Amino acid sequence: MDIAAGINAVSAAIALTRSLSDAAKVLDAASMKLEMAELTGHLADAKLSLVEARDEIARLEAECGRIKDTLQEKANLVRYRGYHYPHDKDGQPIGTAYCPTCLTIEGRLFRLIDSRRVHEGNHCPN
Ligand SMILES: [Zn+2]
Repeated sequence: MDIAAGINAVSAAIALTRSLSDAAKVLDAASMKLEMAELTGHLADAKLSLVEARDEIARLEAECGRIKDTLQEKANLVRYRGYHYPHDKDGQPIGTAYCPTCLTIEGRLFRLIDSRRVHEGNHCPN
């Protein structure tokens, strides 16, 4: 269920409430009970949508924070031969580079792993 479904559920609940208030004087108890069950169902759907929307917002806020942290870390790296590296106190690259694919596409920092084999380059652990 998404936000649009939640809005639809609330709209249906509002419409049903209006019709109930108009028909309250002519509906018998059984019909009123049936209408109230339908209203409760719409409100339950709306609540579920709000819970899911809250969870999605929390997930997106966490992802946004992670990306901000990555960008802040990236600003502290030095670029050398097309790769990003941590640097020493003199600004010289040290260690292995960060994976350019993960950094560019996913906004994540993974240090490349030195394969230690001849003719094999570094590889990403991701
Ligand atoms: Zn990678």
